[in-house]
Amino acid sequence: MRPALTVALSLPALLIGACSSVPIISESELEAESAKQYQEIRAQTPTSTDVGVRAYINCISNTILQQIEKPYADKDWEVEVFEDESANAFAMPGGRIGVNTGILTVAENQDQLAAVIGHEIAHVTQQHALKRANREATTQVGVYAASAVLGGGYGVGDLLAMGAQLGLSLPYSRANETEADTVGLNYMAAAGFNPAESIQLWKNMGKKNKLGPPQFLSTHPSGDNRIQELIGQLPEALKIYNAAQAAGRSPACKEP
Ligand SMILES: [Zn+2]
Repeated sequence: MRPALTVALSLPALLIGACSSVPIISESELEAESAKQYQEIRAQTPTSTDVGVRAYINCISNTILQQIEKPYADKDWEVEVFEDESANAFAMPGGRIGVNTGILTVAENQDQLAAVIGHEIAHVTQQHALKRANREATTQVGVYAASAVLGGGYGVGDLLAMGAQLGLSLPYSRANETEADTVGLNYMAAAGFNPAESIQLWKNMGKKNKLGPPQFLSTHPSGDNRIQELIGQLPEALKIYNAAQAAGRSPACKEP
């Protein structure tokens, strides 16, 4: 009993130790997998044909994208507007942004929508999906190695698909959320969007509409903590915003 238990525990532990420094999934692999999943979403969800809405969301997204750092600034970013009344938005590794028309019921002006999009872009530039995919893969490879001994288990492709999927369906850690809030706030401010509006956005997120709570909340639990942290970061973000305004970055994306 005792030797068998030792083997069962030590094999995954060894693998986890070995893999923590060497990522199992590379950024380019996750980008390729994300591109596939994005095409599936596109195939399943109607895109908006409203020219005004599309122009508005593209204007805000592209203005923020001018402020992000390399290598992400050099990606071929794509912005899509989905005709979907649930209030949600996402950004995927590789540079794909998806915004549901329903988010306009929560984000009431360009600055509030910039807060949502800036936050989502920050998840990509801070590699949150990649980090989580590797965390998951490391855990699963331990399971894989153990079950491979027994003649079963996952393939690497399964791990990759799971890693990309998790980026859309599950909340990130609180630490990743805080980081995306901070980085996103700075992006929007540098682009010339008023960062103070992020606070009103999160207040709006807390209000129910006819569909219930906004879908964005299911992966972004809000509450007073998030708002308090944003208030704490506002003085720094306002400095960036004032500098952007002084430099002539004062976007006026036309509301539809
Ligand atoms: Zn987030």
